[in-house]
Amino acid sequence: MTEAQTVNPNQQKANLLGMSLDKLKVFFSELGEKPFRAVQVLKWIHQYGADDFEQMSNVSKALRAKLSEVAEIRPPEVLQQLDSADGTRKWLIRVDGGSAVETVYIPDGDRGTLCVSSQVGCSLDCSFCSTGKQGFNRDLSAAEIIGQVWIACKSFGQLEANGPRKVTNVVMMGMGEPLLNFDNVVDSMNLMMEDNAYGISKRRVTLSTSGVVPALDRLAEVTDVSLAISLHAPNDALRNELVPINKKYPIAMLLDSAKRYIDKMPDQRRKMTIEYTLIKEVNDRPEHAHQLAELLKDVPVKINLIPFNPFDLSDYERVSNNALHRFQKILVDKGFIVTVRTTRGDDIDAACGQLAGSVNDRTRRSERYRAQRDDRDLEQPVRLIGS
Ligand code: SF4
Repeated sequence: MTEAQTVNPNQQKANLLGMSLDKLKVFFSELGEKPFRAVQVLKWIHQYGADDFEQMSNVSKALRAKLSEVAEIRPPEVLQQLDSADGTRKWLIRVDGGSAVETVYIPDGDRGTLCVSSQVGCSLDCSFCSTGKQGFNRDLSAAEIIGQVWIACKSFGQLEANGPRKVTNVVMMGMGEPLLNFDNVVDSMNLMMEDNAYGISKRRVTLSTSGVVPALDRLAEVTDVSLAISLHAPNDALRNELVPINKKYPIAMLLDSAKRYIDKMPDQRRKMTIEYTLIKEVNDRPEHAHQLAELLKDVPVKINLIPFNPFDLSDYERVSNNALHRFQKILVDKGFIVTVRTTRGDDIDAACGQLAGSVNDRTRRSERYRAQRDDRDLEQPVRLIGS
């Protein structure tokens, strides 16, 4: 053990859960151990769900003892697991500091998609998003991000039994803007794709961003996971209202960066996904669909339409079925691949845009939104029941 690893009872133990294989190798070399030990331990953690070094039967007793002195495997705590009638499962997960984030699993045929959070709340305040209304507390650590995958896989018995895979896809689309927590998100995605961990293909790991352009350019240098852009509007004036970061990085700049990202991918067949939340009489008109088609005519995309899911603190309304189908038809007629995200997990508030968790808001934004709502409620005329 080097001087750096001399045990100090006041020193925090290193949490191995969030360490990528490279970081684990460095950790073991500093312990004076061979790199293959890192692979062994990584497999125990992520393929067998071990959270105690004593479970690692092919690791020597002496090394297990040394590891328990300086390290731990500490997943975040599950406060609540909710199961929807349609098979959707949602977890409320406590993270250090007293806040909680949400993770959702959505089964669909032989595919199971896990929607993972990257931050406690979100600093970006998109006007249609429940997470944005919660304000912001902090970035999640890599252990707290990959811990969501670990918890989900373990809840399905996938880890211990090494059985059929339930989590086949991961989308970084839960609470938070993943590109604002760059290093921890990249480390976590690397663990998702690592053969000695979850072994999920890069086509099945998707990062969704609202458009932090410099970070997206940086992302292209370190990975080629699938990309989704949260666009939600076909022009800058409207997007400035719905996705305020657009004022800093307008649509043209964002699409250029996204195209550069896609162009660097070795597999030219890959397309980026455009996420477009349809909100009644805000961005659902035929002229919006025509503008969107024009905007994306030279971009390799598939378009995912998401009917807005109403939530407390928002005045927006769900798009009508007629407007949804009209919007979709215009795009399909122009040659786009267009899917509509069906609402899942309605009975457990797990639908897209509804993830709220419990955020110790450092920005006081949630307080302001609640005050605005209360003022509005007071202004409503009192209606007598039956009137
Ligand atoms: S849509 Fe994404 S980026 Fe925008 S406020 Fe919600 S979590 Fe943040």
